[in-house]
Amino acid sequence: MTIRFDNSYARLPDHFYTKQAPVPVTKPAVIAVNTDLARELGIDPDSLTADVLAGNEVPEGADPLAQLYAGHQFGNFVPQLGDGRAILLGEVIDNRAQRRDIQLKGSGRTPYSRGGDGRAWLGPVLREYVVSEAMHALGIPTTRALGAATTGEDVIRETILPGAVLTRVAASHLRVGTFQVFASRGDHDAVRALMEHAIERHYPDADGPLGLISAVTAAQAELIAAWHSVGFIHGVMNTDNMAISGETIDYGPCAFMDAYHPNTVFSSIDQMGRYAYGNQPNMGIWNLAQLATSLLPLMEGDDDTKIEAAEERLHAFPELFGDAWLRRFRAKIGLTTEEEGDGALVQGLLSRMATSQADFANTFRALATDMDGSSEITEDGAWESWAAQWNARLARDPGDAQAVMHKANPAIIPRNHRVEQMIQAAVEGDFAPFHRMNTAFKTPFDDRPDTAYFAAAPLPEERVARTFC
Ligand code: AMP
Ligand code: MG
Ligand code: MG
Repeated sequence: MTIRFDNSYARLPDHFYTKQAPVPVTKPAVIAVNTDLARELGIDPDSLTADVLAGNEVPEGADPLAQLYAGHQFGNFVPQLGDGRAILLGEVIDNRAQRRDIQLKGSGRTPYSRGGDGRAWLGPVLREYVVSEAMHALGIPTTRALGAATTGEDVIRETILPGAVLTRVAASHLRVGTFQVFASRGDHDAVRALMEHAIERHYPDADGPLGLISAVTAAQAELIAAWHSVGFIHGVMNTDNMAISGETIDYGPCAFMDAYHPNTVFSSIDQMGRYAYGNQPNMGIWNLAQLATSLLPLMEGDDDTKIEAAEERLHAFPELFGDAWLRRFRAKIGLTTEEEGDGALVQGLLSRMATSQADFANTFRALATDMDGSSEITEDGAWESWAAQWNARLARDPGDAQAVMHKANPAIIPRNHRVEQMIQAAVEGDFAPFHRMNTAFKTPFDDRPDTAYFAAAPLPEERVARTFC
């Protein structure tokens, strides 16, 4: 069986990309094939051979290309980025009639590689595989992992490391930075073509540039609230890493928080805390403002009118985020009804968690299993004072609080120290921990024989304070 490609991005004007095949590797070997996802895409899993996953063989119907984009990296505009180590093979229509990109990441140099080698090492490939699949199982919009292969080639970073290629599936790879590259060049025809492509693909009901701004604003507000609900820190929310579709994209130095604190940062490259856990909504708006700026030339009226109209759309973000956040955190404390004081009740819990350095996931799971967070909220009297308010509120709620919490508070999240241990084992040739993680994170809300292993917060010597791309 062949892959039924229908490559709409390749039909856009040819300055949107450079057509190029992946660069072959010496000795490809399969690490994993995501058979469920393959079937969802109408692809026979057996056709995802080592040669296909590593880019040595371009499947029939693919139209491989590297996409052009720009982006603000930590606030500084870089006029040209683009796929420096990725190739879009093409698009397929999945079994829900959704168009999905199939991309190889780590597939060799392209005209957009700048100084880079175009390659990825095994660590980031396995991290993205495990974490993106876990995010999906947690019910959070995300790119997916269709497969991974080793290349048999060395990649030189601080040390010599094994090379790998990830096959990534996304609703699209349109980024805020894709709009920015053309807007910054004054290429309004390109911005318009891109806008039409984005609307058709993701938001068919959106009306023009303002409609697109509103739709992406709503999607990002939902997404970042979802990240907050599981303690996820993206780590590098540059505008080139924000997807128009509202999916989580580009798992670089990302991590799930262990001990709760809103200022938590993992990324080694985020020195200023720009992308700290609690700052992600602000950075979301910041990025959306860059999207809006790129779309201004397509709007009607004089400059003031356009800016005012765009700002009005962006100003919806705080309320959309707040609503999504409260919906998720209400469920996390077992509420099924809405009362005025619910937000303050949740904040009261979170501030006690911060003071006690309570483990984020385990505190909420303890609420679900035992209705008791005292093992995590250890400051004198802090748990009791909150529990009194919580129980009074639950008494006014007709729902089954524990059942609600079991579906909102995962038993396990892919903790950073387990991810690092898994990568370390794989570098030494043992992929069992990788496969074990993938199996466990298919059902993160269920209790399993190995729940305790994955739920355990890191011991002091296991703690991984910094993540690297
Ligand atoms: P990222 O930080 O992964 O979002 O990447 C930012 C930019 O750097 C993108 O244009 C990437 O394609 C490019 N890039 C990252 N790593 C490499 C690499 N090893 N070789 C070439 N380009 C790279
Ligand atoms: Mg071209
Ligand atoms: Mg990126």
